Amino acid sequence: MLQLFIPLGFLGIVYRQIKYALADMDLVFKLLERQPEIEDQPNAPTLALTEGAIRFEQVDFHYQPERPILHGIDFTLAPGQTLAVVGHSGAGKSTLSRLLFRFYDVTGGRIVLDGQNIRSVTQESLRAAIGIVPQDTVLFNESIYYNLAYGRPEASRAEIERAAEMAHIRAFIESLPDGWNTVVGERGLKLSGGEKQRVAIARAILKRPRILIFDEATSSLDSHTEQAIQQTLAEVAENHTTLVIAHRLSTVVDADRILVLEQGRIREQGRHRELLDAGGHYAAMWELQQREIRASSRQLSAAS
Ligand code: ADP
Ligand code: MG
Repeated sequence: MLQLFIPLGFLGIVYRQIKYALADMDLVFKLLERQPEIEDQPNAPTLALTEGAIRFEQVDFHYQPERPILHGIDFTLAPGQTLAVVGHSGAGKSTLSRLLFRFYDVTGGRIVLDGQNIRSVTQESLRAAIGIVPQDTVLFNESIYYNLAYGRPEASRAEIERAAEMAHIRAFIESLPDGWNTVVGERGLKLSGGEKQRVAIARAILKRPRILIFDEATSSLDSHTEQAIQQTLAEVAENHTTLVIAHRLSTVVDADRILVLEQGRIREQGRHRELLDAGGHYAAMWELQQREIRASSRQLSAAS
């Protein structure tokens, strides 16, 4: 979905490929389906991105009117800062990122980027400004080179190699017998969840967007891979305004602000330490996850 500016003639081929290739098509198809409903206003200007400041103002949202999803979501994300959103599955975290990318229009309130309502600017310019590393990454049955270059097809080979390096996947690629020409995807080499995420990170690096959205995989990456990815992400996020949707609290400790989302409402917000001191919902979630981590490491040491 991501940078979905696929030429139409190409779509048939891509469709067949992805149909074979992917379990995770829902985002692509959602976008293709939804696209006609989201329209540019006549003579909409392009987004003039200066700093990358994001503001959600009293945002409400529902997919279907009978089932409201988000209620009065209100926050500001200063340029270059990192905001983490945590909360249980179904709380509405991914929906926030879909709204920012304007897959859907808000049903109340507004989303403002550098002072411009995202509804008033062209979708193309909005999406060019945002890179998403999704929960599940779409890979084409093509060479791994093609799959990375997809982030910005006109990028040079040197830029692509550098992006792979930053995403900590270059050494892996170059260790394969066919190197950059290795065909990946369902009919090629199957990459692990962590490797696919790194491909997505490399794509996002290539795209060089001002704003980065990272929707963490729920699939349990092993903790070594997870740490490597966190490290990569922290490096990449440094120069971007970043929204991290975090399923594991260990990844939000350093965020500039954490939102705790519950049933579509912001329950708490603050920095990690503040939220722990507040002894509320976040503190309870943290305690629970710490206990799980201790239990699983006890299991590991008992097994060895
Ligand atoms: P999270 O990322 O926090 O797990 P989501 O934002 O994906 O949660 O989903 C929030 C709620 O919206 C869930 O109840 C989910 O079932 C619902 N939802 C998500 N996508 C759609 C959709 N396309 N149509 C209808 N309901 C949806
Ligand atoms: Mg989600």
